[in-house]
Amino acid sequence: MTTLLGLDLNGKPVLVAGGGPVAARRASAMVEAGARVTVVSPALCEDLLDLWVDGSLEWVERRVQQGDLEGAWLVHAATSDPATNATLCAQADERRIWSVNASDVTSGSARTPALARHAGLVVGVASVDTPDPQRVARVRDRLELTLLCEAVDLRAARRHPATERPDRGRVVLVGGGPGAPDLMTIRARRALSEADVVVTDRLGPTSTLADLPDVVEVIHVGKSPDHHPVPQEEINRILVDQAERGRTVVRLKGGDPFVFGRGGEEVSACRAHGIPVEVIPGVTSALAAPASAGIPITHRGVVGGVLVVHGHDDLSSAAVHAVVDGSATVVVLMGVALLPDHVEQLLVAGADPLTPAAIVERGTTPHERVTRAPLCRMAVEARAAGVSAPAVIVIGAVADPALLEEAPEAVEE
Ligand code: SAH
Repeated sequence: MTTLLGLDLNGKPVLVAGGGPVAARRASAMVEAGARVTVVSPALCEDLLDLWVDGSLEWVERRVQQGDLEGAWLVHAATSDPATNATLCAQADERRIWSVNASDVTSGSARTPALARHAGLVVGVASVDTPDPQRVARVRDRLELTLLCEAVDLRAARRHPATERPDRGRVVLVGGGPGAPDLMTIRARRALSEADVVVTDRLGPTSTLADLPDVVEVIHVGKSPDHHPVPQEEINRILVDQAERGRTVVRLKGGDPFVFGRGGEEVSACRAHGIPVEVIPGVTSALAAPASAGIPITHRGVVGGVLVVHGHDDLSSAAVHAVVDGSATVVVLMGVALLPDHVEQLLVAGADPLTPAAIVERGTTPHERVTRAPLCRMAVEARAAGVSAPAVIVIGAVADPALLEEAPEAVEE
């Protein structure tokens, strides 16, 4: 009957008999575990040669012999000859050395579990009696998926419960996507499951915060109707301060952290204090909101570029040119308040009043709404519909509702 044991192979001699792909897999796992690996085989496959060339293992260029077991803690019998493997395992037994037989799992004294590594943990799966590698692999894959995709609390235990951890923490800037929780990336979810504290905006997948364990602190720093946004310097200070207490700090942002997210400033602030900082890209609303509303921001034969701009003040001259000459689709973020001014700016600059335009509010969420109108009527329609933030404004031929109704024209390659 098999049981599982976590072996520390660091610095321990391990013998791998065989030079083919199975031996290569075993040898590379042993090398990764820090073992001192000796491969005995008259020839090596390419993967083993690579490991040998870079000095990760020793190679004895001949068939395996009984004396090769000397000093080994573990042997992988992975030659192409089942009889040799069985003999080697029997000899290993006599010397009380653990052995894995690649051609007949039952004849070795150990078997290799299927492993999944995640967030500093290793999960191993093995059959108890008759080997069943397919079933074992299926279970391992499922566990891996669970760890990746489900809300599992993966925060590391505190070493000093009374105080905070003595070592420095870290900051993870997480792009949470445009709002729909299932548009968060797997990497973003994993970061959330490791967080001691989450510093969050109002936009993005905030509904996922409800799944966090109660002990995870949540600090809201975004703008909402009843409270003002926390100034950027204050957010930077919170991130640094929390990390200096040894915590894993997730800075959860809507969309992508580096698209009008002031993520760059937060990275600089952390670096200035020597705090490790990781950036997890997110699905930006600039691309996702139009896509979700069925607006292709580039379209073959119509437009071959996109310009993403903010609408806090006058539109940039590049954006104005793009609309006037139709050279790129313009996507405006944070542009609802000044929409009437932007429409006027574009018309004065010579834009075609009938240029198609669309506003996508709360894209990807159940409250997504699309308002379409030609440029000259956009501000009036938006007011009539009561359009409000968050919304992206798309200006250009691709916003034409008829665009995707037509059969695609054959375009020469
Ligand atoms: N970093 C974010 C953008 C932050 S600026 C990103 O990559 O998406 C905030 C602006 O993003 C909002 O004013 C709005 O223009 C846009 N926005 C964010 N989420 C949105 C959504 N779900 N639908 C439409 N626009 C959105």
